Amino acid sequence: MLQTVAEHFETWLRESRKQSGDFIVILIDKILTGAVALSASDIHFQPGRNGVEVRFRIDGVLHILGCLPLEHSGQIAARLKVFAGLLTYKVDVPQEGRVRSGRIEGIAQEMRISSAPTLFGERIVIRFFSPENQCQTIESLGFEESIQQHLHEAVARRNGAVLIVGPSGSGKTTTAYALLRELANCRETTRSIVSLEDPIEHAIDGVAQIEVSSNPDSDATKHGEKFRTLSLDRMLQYMMRQDPEVLMVGEIRERRTAEAAFQAALTGHLLISTFHGGSAAESIGRFLELGIEPFVLRSSIAFLFCQRLLRRLCSCSSKVEQQLEIRLQGKDLTVQQYFEPCGCSDCGGTGYAGRIPVAEILPLENETIARAVLERRATGIIQQLAQEQGMTLLVENVVRLIETGQTSPLEAKRVLGH
Ligand SMILES: [Zn+2]
Repeated sequence: MLQTVAEHFETWLRESRKQSGDFIVILIDKILTGAVALSASDIHFQPGRNGVEVRFRIDGVLHILGCLPLEHSGQIAARLKVFAGLLTYKVDVPQEGRVRSGRIEGIAQEMRISSAPTLFGERIVIRFFSPENQCQTIESLGFEESIQQHLHEAVARRNGAVLIVGPSGSGKTTTAYALLRELANCRETTRSIVSLEDPIEHAIDGVAQIEVSSNPDSDATKHGEKFRTLSLDRMLQYMMRQDPEVLMVGEIRERRTAEAAFQAALTGHLLISTFHGGSAAESIGRFLELGIEPFVLRSSIAFLFCQRLLRRLCSCSSKVEQQLEIRLQGKDLTVQQYFEPCGCSDCGGTGYAGRIPVAEILPLENETIARAVLERRATGIIQQLAQEQGMTLLVENVVRLIETGQTSPLEAKRVLGH
């Protein structure tokens, strides 16, 4: 990435104007292939008062490329909706569709295109699924060795819930897929594996994958398409009749799915899922808020893992040999030394290249922690007890990454907050 994204955009605009043919059609092709070349995970076309803003998300950070005149808004939306087989004349309802790899020339990745009616026109967001050949294994996720070890132990289990917690964009789905792949590839024991996903991101050999709507209100009979629209919790209950040993639920979002998932974990199945939360301890509180009984959490959760992705400093970073007080996730911490991003031609001037995962594991098997969960203790107390019992908090792991120059204090603050 030698140029900034805005410079790339200027080039694409210039080239599109010069070429014969429809300007928007040519430009959208350039934006799509450009996004793939720059490893963007998402593209936004956001109409506003000043035009349609085009943005790329790269390594978790949103970059503004520039603006297109608002009068093109309709044509941009229509062009992209055609790719995903959406109804172009319906502009007042949200729609979502998938673009198979190879459907658009020069793009091998699968995409999900969604539209939503906004004040100034349809907002279109494109999400790229990582290419099949970049599928990760536990080893290639990039976690430190002790974490890898724990992940291997988690999938070796025969029952209980293995939960991966984090906010969106924290890489939890990638980790869940790596665990699933590990289970499917295990040569020693063949297990009956079923996954319920929304949407299915990759096909995995040896896994019965079912695309399910996670909307709890979806009703099978209303739409006629029985399984596509069967709600996640009902599908989960149904699949229990199909002799599964391992079940993956893409994400637990509400109470009924949580109940069905924990029930599966309590009845001799290994259950893998992701859950939205800021920390491992916080997710306990969120499950209690959903109405899950503490004794259910205590006896069903086998492994509670929280993760984040931080941008990795490029080798052009510069060392600052100075102590720094830093507040992350409400904790005051001290770093002995740190590195600052600089920017070179390799990192496109951003100072960062790629991302690095960081994690914490809440030891629920520990008696003190288990008692605190049963007593519905506050997140802060559970976290403090866990620390006393030897758990390394995610923020403490981040401090280590800062001191060793793998990420910067600024990036840590961006991802973890104050
Ligand atoms: Zn650099």
